[in-house]
Amino acid sequence: MASVKEDVEILKKVQILDKEIYDLGIFVSQIPERIVEIEKEFEGKKSHFNLLEEEIIKTKLGVKDKELELGKKDGEIAKLDGQLAQMKTNKEYTAMLEQIAGIKADKGMLEEKILLDWDNVEKLNKEKEEEKKRLAGDEMKANQQKKVLEEDGRRAEEKIRQLKEERINILTPVTHEIKDLYEKILAKREGVALVKIDGENCGGCQFLLRPQIINEVRLQENITLCERCTRILYYEA
Ligand SMILES: [Zn+2]
Repeated sequence: MASVKEDVEILKKVQILDKEIYDLGIFVSQIPERIVEIEKEFEGKKSHFNLLEEEIIKTKLGVKDKELELGKKDGEIAKLDGQLAQMKTNKEYTAMLEQIAGIKADKGMLEEKILLDWDNVEKLNKEKEEEKKRLAGDEMKANQQKKVLEEDGRRAEEKIRQLKEERINILTPVTHEIKDLYEKILAKREGVALVKIDGENCGGCQFLLRPQIINEVRLQENITLCERCTRILYYEA
């Protein structure tokens, strides 16, 4: 049967692999979240484009309303024009002419507003086209970022698979109970089950170790655990 010292030497090698497996696992698990972030960021960039589009629709609707209004005014003018001949007095006639002139002035104002609206639509359309080009670039960039992440994820998964195979081979000679203990701690302690004593502290949780514990670890007759984080301790000068 292997000595504790020999087992710990093997665990030191395995721990390096296990830390890498753990970190790669974290990386892989964060990929879906990061992809959602990239998509959200792109959606956010689209909001300005959507606003421009809304503004264009709103302005065009405003033009339609004003054109309807113009039509009504034309109708009013035609009606009043028709009534002009029926005016009995000069005063009535003049009053009617003034009324018609007033409506025509309103029409002129509306027509001016419509022209301004069209200018605005043209400006907004130009801005929209520029935004569209910018967005196409952003979308390409976002897709590229997603692709790279997904590829990195696949590579990481493949690496994890290789490392797991490797660790099983390396672990083979380790005493069964020690192997079990190591695996249990590994699962509970963020991928780190074996730590070096750091001065007088646990290299995992920095707990100040009792001198007796440090002595036990140095002797290496048994497996000694940190009293706080329960990781396996080893000593290295
Ligand atoms: Zn500890």
